[in-house]
Amino acid sequence: MPLLSALRRLSAKPTLQDWPGLIEAYRPWLPVSDRTPVITLREGATPLIPAPAIAARVGRGVKVFLKYDGLNPTGSFKDRGMTMAVSKAREAGAEAVICASTGNTSAAAAAYAKRGGMRAFVLIPDGYVAQGKLAQALMYGAEVLAVKGNFDRALAIVREVADNYPVTLVNSLNPYRLQGQKTAAFEVVDALGEAPDWLCIPMGNAGNISAYWMGFQEYRKAGHSQRLPRMMGFQASGSAPLVLGHTVEQPDTIATAIRIGNPANRDKALAVREQSNGAFHAVTDQEILEAYKLLGREEGVFCEPASAASVAGLLQQAAEVPAGATVVCVLTGNGLKDPGTAIDHSDGSFHAGLAPEVDVVAKVMGF
Ligand SMILES: *Cc1c(COP(=O)(O)O)cnc(C)c1O
Repeated sequence: MPLLSALRRLSAKPTLQDWPGLIEAYRPWLPVSDRTPVITLREGATPLIPAPAIAARVGRGVKVFLKYDGLNPTGSFKDRGMTMAVSKAREAGAEAVICASTGNTSAAAAAYAKRGGMRAFVLIPDGYVAQGKLAQALMYGAEVLAVKGNFDRALAIVREVADNYPVTLVNSLNPYRLQGQKTAAFEVVDALGEAPDWLCIPMGNAGNISAYWMGFQEYRKAGHSQRLPRMMGFQASGSAPLVLGHTVEQPDTIATAIRIGNPANRDKALAVREQSNGAFHAVTDQEILEAYKLLGREEGVFCEPASAASVAGLLQQAAEVPAGATVVCVLTGNGLKDPGTAIDHSDGSFHAGLAPEVDVVAKVMGF
């Protein structure tokens, strides 16, 4: 197509048609070399979607965008970290990877490990992983071990297993994960032409907020932006160790992806808050569900409950946003991951058992 080739000539950045995945797109920024076998599913390049209905609720000329990372190949931002972690594991000769997961890490680890010809072991908290995520791990051929304990316990086990057996840990303690994930901040700045004033993001293990901050800092240092955002992190009120300032022994929330009581990246997250003049707040499951439904109903964007915590947090803190500011809310995962929560909580109207007749259907439609 002439338009595409013209665009290609005009811009140093690849166009949509030939997006090579984030390692190739941002190679100079990443710890890879000619010897790194790049294992990619063309992750990254996710859309930054204007959110006028949310902006209207915040008011005062505030502009709101959604970084919809649920459009990555396995449906969450975890793919950004996993392309790096698995490529580096392969480079080092690993034949198996292991992770503990509330679901999305296991889906991503399985997809990338299998694509790279490796085994994938995933430990999940038995009974607390959304159905879509479990389906993915199984379809990608992971060896799934469901343990009778929460995420924090599962992580403690995989750390020890990785220390003692020939398997590579790909949780966000793996530094390559955060390197891959920082590219989301690059994409936000590339799209806006500047860093936002606020970056609203859900926190579980707090790897992603740390990765975004690293990305924003590196881009500013290189002159791609003039400013840095305030990093606004949100946790579910039943699992809010970073807000409370202490470990939560029995974390509880409908947002299973952030049901974490002992965050692996606690110290990094606290440093991000301080350096960015940011703030951490808790949002209730009720607030999360309201934002989750609002996103679907008024913005046409279906994310998973944990992701909606970023929007719930923005709405909760709306009075604190400076007039005219630009806010980016990170939507970390796709709504299809967790159909159960959607069906249980949606306000959508569902009329069951209708007779298959035009007049019956028209009557229900209100005609
Ligand atoms: C992993 C995950 C999070 C939390 O990210 P952290 O890096 O652990 O803070 C939030 N939302 C979704 C959908 C996730 O999969």
